[in-house]
Amino acid sequence: MKAAVLVGLRRIEIQNKPKPVVESGEVLVKVEYCGICGSDVHGYQNGIVIPVGTVMGHELSGVVSEVGREVYSVRPGDHVVVKPSAPCRSCYWCRKGQYSICPNRRKTIIGVNPENDGAFAEYVRIRYPGQMLFKLPSGLGAKEAALAEPFSVALHGVRLSRFKSGDCVMVIGAGMIGLAVLQLLKLVRTSKVIVLEISEEKSRVAQALGADLVLNPLSEGGGLRDRIFDLTGGIGADMVFDCAGVPMAFQTSMDCVKSGGQILVIGVYEQNVPFSLYNLLHREIEVKGVYSSYDEFQEVIELLADGKIDTHLFISDTISAKGLVEKGFERLLASKDLIKIVVRMDEWQ
Ligand SMILES: [Zn+2]
Ligand SMILES: [Zn+2]
Repeated sequence: MKAAVLVGLRRIEIQNKPKPVVESGEVLVKVEYCGICGSDVHGYQNGIVIPVGTVMGHELSGVVSEVGREVYSVRPGDHVVVKPSAPCRSCYWCRKGQYSICPNRRKTIIGVNPENDGAFAEYVRIRYPGQMLFKLPSGLGAKEAALAEPFSVALHGVRLSRFKSGDCVMVIGAGMIGLAVLQLLKLVRTSKVIVLEISEEKSRVAQALGADLVLNPLSEGGGLRDRIFDLTGGIGADMVFDCAGVPMAFQTSMDCVKSGGQILVIGVYEQNVPFSLYNLLHREIEVKGVYSSYDEFQEVIELLADGKIDTHLFISDTISAKGLVEKGFERLLASKDLIKIVVRMDEWQ
């Protein structure tokens, strides 16, 4: 089968690999669509977290092609959405329902190490189909289903936050996750959402999704904090979702959140960020990390199938597998205007 292998920094090669052999309890999925995640781009550009030799790709949908013995949840021909990892469900954290921080889950994630190939390939082996495969409901297209994984991360962030109706929320970064947070906030309960974004194209999408105000932090410059405080009656934002992952964003979060407010860090940081712990302490600011998701996947699939999510606004382009590097990864590095690129895993040459 064809597979796109990360062979070095900014180097992905299409290689022929043996089609995985399914063992008892496992399933082989023929990949239909796979989204390029921000973390894939980090891996491609800097080798961060993802080692050379990995077949990346963890935001996928496909068709069940083979099932091993003792698989009862799916049959060949079933259209499925794949959740890219399986918590052990027996450790200390799993027993508390905190599946995303299960220490055993990391070993099961597809697309982040060479032991568990991901979905930028013709086929992907699923070791824990009972936990990782969700049947595609009618009303949800295979392409749109590739958004289920990032949306479940965004929903997880909203769940972990102290968000309540009427809150004034700031979202920094209108990429896939920031926009998904915006859409979910607007969907679940009313609130005022201020989005910070430098790309005009992404700002336009944020507006289309119902952002109350979109500000460009570069043109606001040093006046940004005062602007936010003016907009919130001198209080500051109740909470900030930092979905940008750049040091400026965390600094801005600290500046603009209200005393006693909460900062949710969802953006992937490559660098350490210096900040004033004294500021954190005397203003009683809470900083909370958000990683992956617990059990939000099924709920997101239902939201997608019910047409509650404006998927067309999130998918910037759909490309074929042969364009993965030039029309996918390289374009995402070159342009700040793209949200999600979804790869149709056909046409390899
Ligand atoms: Zn992802
Ligand atoms: Zn566990």
